Amino acid sequence: MYNVVIARYGEIGVKGKNRYVFENRLIRNIKNNLKEIGKLKVYKDQARIYIDIEDYDYEAVIQEVRKVFGIVSLSPAVKLEPDYDKLKDVCLKLTKEKLEFENVSTFKVESKRADKKFKLKSPEMSQDIGGYLLSNLGDSLKVDIHNPDFVVYAEMREENAICYVDKIEGYGGLPIGTNGKAMILLSGGIDSPVAAWLVAKRGVEIEAIHFHSYPFTSERSKEKVKDLARILSKYCGKFTMHSVNLLPIQKTINQNCPEEEMTILSRRFMMKIAQEVALNRNCNALITGESIGQVASQTLQSLHVTNSAVDIPVFRPCIAMDKTEIVSLAQKIGTFETSIIPEEDCCTVFLPKNPVIRPKIEKILSSESKLNVDELIKDAIDNIEVERIEF
Ligand code: ATP
Ligand code: MG
Repeated sequence: MYNVVIARYGEIGVKGKNRYVFENRLIRNIKNNLKEIGKLKVYKDQARIYIDIEDYDYEAVIQEVRKVFGIVSLSPAVKLEPDYDKLKDVCLKLTKEKLEFENVSTFKVESKRADKKFKLKSPEMSQDIGGYLLSNLGDSLKVDIHNPDFVVYAEMREENAICYVDKIEGYGGLPIGTNGKAMILLSGGIDSPVAAWLVAKRGVEIEAIHFHSYPFTSERSKEKVKDLARILSKYCGKFTMHSVNLLPIQKTINQNCPEEEMTILSRRFMMKIAQEVALNRNCNALITGESIGQVASQTLQSLHVTNSAVDIPVFRPCIAMDKTEIVSLAQKIGTFETSIIPEEDCCTVFLPKNPVIRPKIEKILSSESKLNVDELIKDAIDNIEVERIEF
């Protein structure tokens, strides 16, 4: 019975003159997420976005559109000609369906009279429709103004009438592409996809950089990271991924530096390489999935040493989250199942038995000075592989 999906946006409504830029970007992002389903008509009308669903399954449409950042809530709805009696009839049908398929019994009506010429004012409309529903379904239905199981929304406009009974939450945030671009250091783990998702939610376009130690790490572990990237692209749009072989650098560190400094020195190289690629690609920040105290390389002292390898801002949205919180977000966004597939990671290839937990910056810089840092970085970047990621 539904023929449209309504998508509501929040914060972008307050952007003043730039508002249309945000709205147009949101429409583009919605269309992109629907490309696998079909070419649906997506358009703006009075501070809302409508998607004509035609014969498509509205639940599938909502599932895809829900992943678009900037959308606060969604409703499958019936849009019809501006005929009040027909609107009441649709309200009755949707309410009947709701009673049949869900365990609900109390309701209220919320009406909107956008057509000021219409005979009833909004509260009168609500009363009238409520009475109509009760007179038809009175045994199974009761009004509860303060805490209803569901709300029947009815709207009379000049050009059309609308009815819906469900509001599905979106993720909020801002449309991708409205707030610059950042580079995520994407491992195959649980944390970095979540970190990317959190920053992207604020409208930031992303690119990814992944470090592997091929052939010490497998082709499969690279594929796993690509799978994660593809899941992210449902939220972030298509993006570029850079793959860097860190093995030559790891071997050099291994031969020239104390064993316990292996991880922290590798991490500084990762950051420096990521910074250089980021700047070449117009990214204004790096993103990592680090969280305070999670492992030896994420103590405050280690974070200081890692951070001081670069000048560019580094965003760490998971920094204050517990692992359980990160895991539940990973489950919610759909990356968790892929992240936990066991594959070796470049960091585990030369994992020191006793990594430094409180590295001193002077000591790390002194170890690093034994290496030809610039040349190692240049070689790594010269051999970078680049590909486009899309779902
Ligand atoms: P994750 O679950 O994301 O792998 P982690 O808990 O394993 O994180 P670390 O391995 O210490 O933690 O990595 C911390 C952060 O450094 C990661 O979240 C990621 O941003 C970055 N990182 C680690 N390994 C790689 C890699 N191979 N390629 C790209 N980035 C990496
Ligand atoms: Mg990791």
